[in-house]
Amino acid sequence: QVADSLYILNNFAAKYFSEQLWNTDEGNNIALSYLEQRGFTKSILEKFQVGYSPNAYDAFTQAAINGQYNTDLLIKSGLTARNQHNDSLRDNYRGRIIFPVHNISGKVIGFGARVIGKAENTPKYINTPENEIYVKSKILYGTYFARQAIDKADECLLVEGYTDVVSLAQAGVENVVASGGTSLTTEQLRLIKKYTSNLTIIYDGDSAGVKAAMRGLDMALEEALNVRLVLIPDGEDPDSYVKKVGEKQFKKFIAEHKKDFILFEMEILLREAGNDIARKNDAVNKIAESISKINKAEDFTKQQEYIRQCASAMKIDEGGLTNLVNKYT
Ligand code: ATP
Ligand code: MN
Ligand code: MN
Ligand code: MN
Repeated sequence: QVADSLYILNNFAAKYFSEQLWNTDEGNNIALSYLEQRGFTKSILEKFQVGYSPNAYDAFTQAAINGQYNTDLLIKSGLTARNQHNDSLRDNYRGRIIFPVHNISGKVIGFGARVIGKAENTPKYINTPENEIYVKSKILYGTYFARQAIDKADECLLVEGYTDVVSLAQAGVENVVASGGTSLTTEQLRLIKKYTSNLTIIYDGDSAGVKAAMRGLDMALEEALNVRLVLIPDGEDPDSYVKKVGEKQFKKFIAEHKKDFILFEMEILLREAGNDIARKNDAVNKIAESISKINKAEDFTKQQEYIRQCASAMKIDEGGLTNLVNKYT
């Protein structure tokens, strides 16, 4: 009941924001020009239903109230907020670019709202709060547009942000979804698993990006996903990088830098450990634990192969590593 009303309201809002982007002077001059300056084409913006929320106190809220939407629902949707001081209702995404978030059947379940230009004294993005239909832990931005391409490529690319998804789709890389910059959840991994067993994480090369990716690894192995990782050069993200080097170079870079995730984790841990025996021991244990997450019944050969490769790279005995892996199983 509430869920249905939220779908209807979000659909109304997405249409309103898109109308504002394409058919108003403010939308054209402030939002569309910004998006075009960033290199987004009209057709990709249309495909992802990108919009604009005007920089007015309550323009959207008034339009929704005129459309008979009730205020409790407006607040629950996150589109409207109550001003704590005078109890008035105000638009929550004033003066922001709107990225509607769709569920797998294409219904709008929420929004990501980006400030135009640099974020000063305000968050860069405002996202829909949790409600009956927007459950962050289950959502990957772009799934609706990517699912056929994921199926066809038998691979899902995972990036951090909205603009990474849109930019890559524009470059013809359509099997892409975004995590919204937070660590992956089991539910999100299961969503991917519906379409493919091959997950390629494309994060930026800063240590925050790497750590975020690592946190998802053991969970992904438990879901029987083959995880690969590509780190984008420092200071770039997939959106900025594809625009910098172009489609062809970008695809080449991804193909050449795709690394198996367990082997990658091992490299990082070994490098960090250096000659420190205790830390090397921790690294071996961590790798054994990761290998143990590979479901033995389903993937015995794969597990064996990792034990072989890792034991050799870490210069330890294969039988010893096998025992350690079994200890974690
Ligand atoms: P842009 O290219 O427009 O700067 P981005 O996606 O590169 O956007 P990042 O700062 O890299 O922005 O953040 C990655 C993702 O994390 C965003 O797309 C968004 O989903 C989420 N995010 C970033 N900042 C915030 C914030 N302040 N609040 C909530 N979510 C955020
Ligand atoms: Mn980063
Ligand atoms: Mn980014
Ligand atoms: Mn970016």
